[in-house]
Amino acid sequence: DVHELVSNAEIAVRHARDQGRNCYHFYSAGMHDEIRSRLLLETELRNAMLRNEFILHYQPKASCANGRITGTEALIRWQHPRRGIVPPDQFIPLLEETGLIVQVGRWVMEEACRQAAEWQAAGLEIPSISVNLSARQLQSDTLVADVAATLQNSGLTPACLDLEITESMLMHNADAAIRTLTALKQMGVTISLDDFGTGWSNLSYLAGLPVSGVKIAREMGFGEHGDEIRRPLISAAVALAQAFDLDIVAEGVETVEQLQAARELGVHKIQGYFFARPMPPGQMTEWLQTTHAVMPVDC
Ligand code: C2E
Ligand code: MG
Ligand code: MG
Repeated sequence: DVHELVSNAEIAVRHARDQGRNCYHFYSAGMHDEIRSRLLLETELRNAMLRNEFILHYQPKASCANGRITGTEALIRWQHPRRGIVPPDQFIPLLEETGLIVQVGRWVMEEACRQAAEWQAAGLEIPSISVNLSARQLQSDTLVADVAATLQNSGLTPACLDLEITESMLMHNADAAIRTLTALKQMGVTISLDDFGTGWSNLSYLAGLPVSGVKIAREMGFGEHGDEIRRPLISAAVALAQAFDLDIVAEGVETVEQLQAARELGVHKIQGYFFARPMPPGQMTEWLQTTHAVMPVDC
């Protein structure tokens, strides 16, 4: 009928728009399924928040110099009642699109700070906790106040909180983002540039950024064992970070060869399966209580 025809045409239009406009698309039943499953996912995500289905796993970082833990990153997972543990790349994009990420991200920060303060109070070695921010959170007017409130509620020292942002988050409204980051830095919180090396087109932005460290993306090659072609890229990224006196973390270090390569290049810290995989909090507590919590430095 007319209704169905118009509604299907709108679906086709939406597809054409998503593909950069100025093109056409024929409606197909598959598009409908896609929209239905998206709507279903959105509803499920709204419920997930209410039902406390989000959980955090923690992945420690280690110092290349002495092998000790320098901090741990909080990584969100969705404990889905039927699908089991769902990784973040399957739901973060929709959380961002719908704006739900602001609320979920606030919970991540609160829970991560609470957990870090608890570990510290128990005498376990967690010098800092890293939390990933999303673009929406960085744009939100309440971020600075949220961080201040979270630190106060958890009792965590500001210097123990590290916020990870990505280069792409600075593409829109960079001035406002830098103002927010500067306010956070003044509070004593540190800021790291995540996935460094995957998004740069304009290097001059680095000069004015209130960041204290970079995390060299796994895609840059530390995770690609024996990829000689990428080696100059990583050296350049490390040299750039060194020139700005930034703390350098290599992500996705899985093997002893990658660890050695990272060390040779002058990377300060590593995060990756070689040292530890992301773990649920209970497992992390046990791990912190054992000697595994030190990376061998003479390998
Ligand atoms: P990221 O912040 O760059 O996190 C590192 C990702 O690399 C994690 O994936 C981690 O499990 C994975 N990883 C770590 N070491 C290794 C390794 O040695 N080998 C391999 N192959 N992978 C390794 P995960 O947990 O699936 O997270 C993916 C991304 O989702 C994160 O990338 C981050 O951008 C985003 N994310 C996770 N939690 C949050 C959150 O609470 N808020 C926001 N906004 N984003 C989050
Ligand atoms: Mg990260
Ligand atoms: Mg990363």
